[in-house]
Amino acid sequence: MPLRALARVNLAAIERNVSRLVSRLAPGAGLCAVVKGDGYGHGAARAAGAALAGGARSLAVATADEAAELREAGLEAPLLLMGAVSAQELPVALSAGAELVAWSERFVTDLAAAADGRVRVHVKLDTGMGRLGTRSRAAALVVAERVAASPALELAGAMTHFATADEDPEFLRAQLERFRPFAAELRRRPGVRAHAANSAATLREPATHFDMVRCGIAIYGADPMHDDPAAWGLEPALELTSYVAAVKRALPGDSAGYGRRFIAERETWIATLPIGYADGIRRALSGNCDVLIAGRRHPLAGTVSMDNITVDLGPETTVQEGEPATLIGAQGGVRQTAEELARRIGTINYEVLCGISRRVPRAYHHDGQAG
Ligand SMILES: *Cc1c(COP(=O)(O)O)cnc(C)c1O
Repeated sequence: MPLRALARVNLAAIERNVSRLVSRLAPGAGLCAVVKGDGYGHGAARAAGAALAGGARSLAVATADEAAELREAGLEAPLLLMGAVSAQELPVALSAGAELVAWSERFVTDLAAAADGRVRVHVKLDTGMGRLGTRSRAAALVVAERVAASPALELAGAMTHFATADEDPEFLRAQLERFRPFAAELRRRPGVRAHAANSAATLREPATHFDMVRCGIAIYGADPMHDDPAAWGLEPALELTSYVAAVKRALPGDSAGYGRRFIAERETWIATLPIGYADGIRRALSGNCDVLIAGRRHPLAGTVSMDNITVDLGPETTVQEGEPATLIGAQGGVRQTAEELARRIGTINYEVLCGISRRVPRAYHHDGQAG
């Protein structure tokens, strides 16, 4: 019996995506698997385990709680906490043994005071993202000096983050040129590694690889360029499914769903699937998305509710109650990608995947084998 809503994650696909990415890296560069946002909706700990099996050397998250969760799951790989860390979060981050990112002298002072043992620190230069990091190379070098001078801290990395790796190669190169002298300066110290590339930069521009790349979206088999993951040899790891809970006839004039946004113009059959926006099927997809049932695309009819969607099966259908339905993934020869859903509602695959809510159970397998 199919489940109400289910995200099936193929860990073997994550492993293969990582090993394909690793095979493209410039000599000497390693891959850090980014598993923030609960592994982009795939489940952080399981995704991390698969990424390490595929050849990732380290992991990265955005928050202290995410770091703690990975340690609780028994993952011992080097772990970079990329986000800003507040005074409240600092003890959690430190007890997880996370490597931290610094860009102000003030943070380095607080960190040195709180550190119990040697904490590895990466210094961030803002070369154009305009979020975290200092824009001043001189200021970032002073921060790095402070880290290196503190017995409680260890200078581990020089980093930056690209704003346009997926869309504007010229700005990417400008950021890269701003980063180079900073990276060169810090790399003169033993053990310091430079890193800058996200998935898009990793795929597009080998000159961004330095000593490490930080790949998120691509390890899950989604396309950082928002189009077709297959074009980069990436395999989507996640499938989102539901099932047909009811099939009923609609006569011309009958409606389906809130607000009567769908009204049958002809006699047709309507399927109801018990999955909705509380599961992450965004309401903006109302009347603007397909569902794969019995190896065919069928249009979503009417409004997405919190717990249900309705699908127009057409005037003649063999679809029965109980049949599986796919929202993200493939059935027979047809597929619907996270990229396609994203395009339909003006967002990106990242948000579609991260938006699959906690209410949806995750089931893990290796190419169909349980586990
Ligand atoms: C999220 C994140 C990444 C990974 O980005 P993808 O586009 O998913 O590969 C890399 N670096 C930083 C700083 C990030 O916040």
